[in-house]
Amino acid sequence: MKAIVVKEPGDAEQLHVTEQPKPEVKTGELLVNVKAAAINRTDIVSREGKSGYLDNPILGVEVSGIVVKAGKGTNVEIGTRVMGLVNGGGYAEYAVIPAERAMVIPESLSFEEGVAIPEVFLTAFQTLFWLGDLQSNETVLIHAGGSGVGTAAIQLAKQLMNADVITTAGSDKKLDYCRSLGADLCINYKEQNFAEEVLKATSNQGANVILDFIGASYWKQNLTSLTVDGRLILIGVLGGAEVEQVNLMELMAKRIQLKGTLLTPRSDQYKADLTRDFVNKAIPLFNKSKLKPVIDHVFPFDEVQKAHKHMESNKNIGKIILRIT
Ligand code: NAP
Repeated sequence: MKAIVVKEPGDAEQLHVTEQPKPEVKTGELLVNVKAAAINRTDIVSREGKSGYLDNPILGVEVSGIVVKAGKGTNVEIGTRVMGLVNGGGYAEYAVIPAERAMVIPESLSFEEGVAIPEVFLTAFQTLFWLGDLQSNETVLIHAGGSGVGTAAIQLAKQLMNADVITTAGSDKKLDYCRSLGADLCINYKEQNFAEEVLKATSNQGANVILDFIGASYWKQNLTSLTVDGRLILIGVLGGAEVEQVNLMELMAKRIQLKGTLLTPRSDQYKADLTRDFVNKAIPLFNKSKLKPVIDHVFPFDEVQKAHKHMESNKNIGKIILRIT
């Protein structure tokens, strides 16, 4: 089968289409004829050789496609259209997925729309509700509102919890899009001090939950933006991983809970449980068109280098997809 591998750890030019053996299905797994895969920041980190989370030479943590073989202990019919998280190996014509993680693609969605769901919606669902414990009368501040995870989080916070949503992004085009997804207040972080705007909008109380992809460069403003008993959920460090001066008194005084998380290295059981909860609570809303996958661009398989460069240029709103067949 054709699959994309990294020649040497490095930039996008290291990505190449090669011939690889088709994966074998084990107990509890499904073999999927992959129709589409999606690009994620974790793929870029793997491409650069900076993470060893997945023991698979083929990149890609999510796929959509058709089940062509079912391992022992599974009860998914051959021919079912599925989407979900894989343990690497997604940028390929065939991939194995643990059956417990395979979600049936809502009928109204294409394979490309389906693959735009798993990683970003599961991450947003997990961080807003499992880790952030967001409640309906609360305010959430979602950074990088135009990102794949950001666009998913805005929709989930509104549609599942009807929370007040404040978001930040670096361009008016992205902010307009966030507004169209339901965000109540949109802040251009390049032009405004987001902490001041959050305090103004919340009568000086601050947000209850922050989903932060940025890290060090937002640390001070994040602490100012949080209310008492606020939850800061750290899921990315696009603005740096090391904070120079930390005043722990600020955390204590506001009783702030700081949680960091990475989805990719979580256990198979955790990902299966998360998938099940998401299928029960969120998938019905895709069928009712209350939630939608957000696609920025679909690239053909052999333009994977361009697809990675596009993500690295920070221009996308929503997901970047690879069409496999
Ligand atoms: P994405 O679609 O590529 O969007 C990322 C956006 O972040 C960029 O387009 C840019 O938008 C903004 N950004 C980049 N550098 C920035 C900086 N220094 N300061 C402020 N904004 C910056 O990303 P994604 O796939 O949704 O992923 C978003 C983040 O979540 C990534 O860091 C990713 O690694 C992380 N993630 C974590 C988990 C987890 O389990 N922990 C799971 C999935 C994703 P602007 O134009 O607004 O600047």
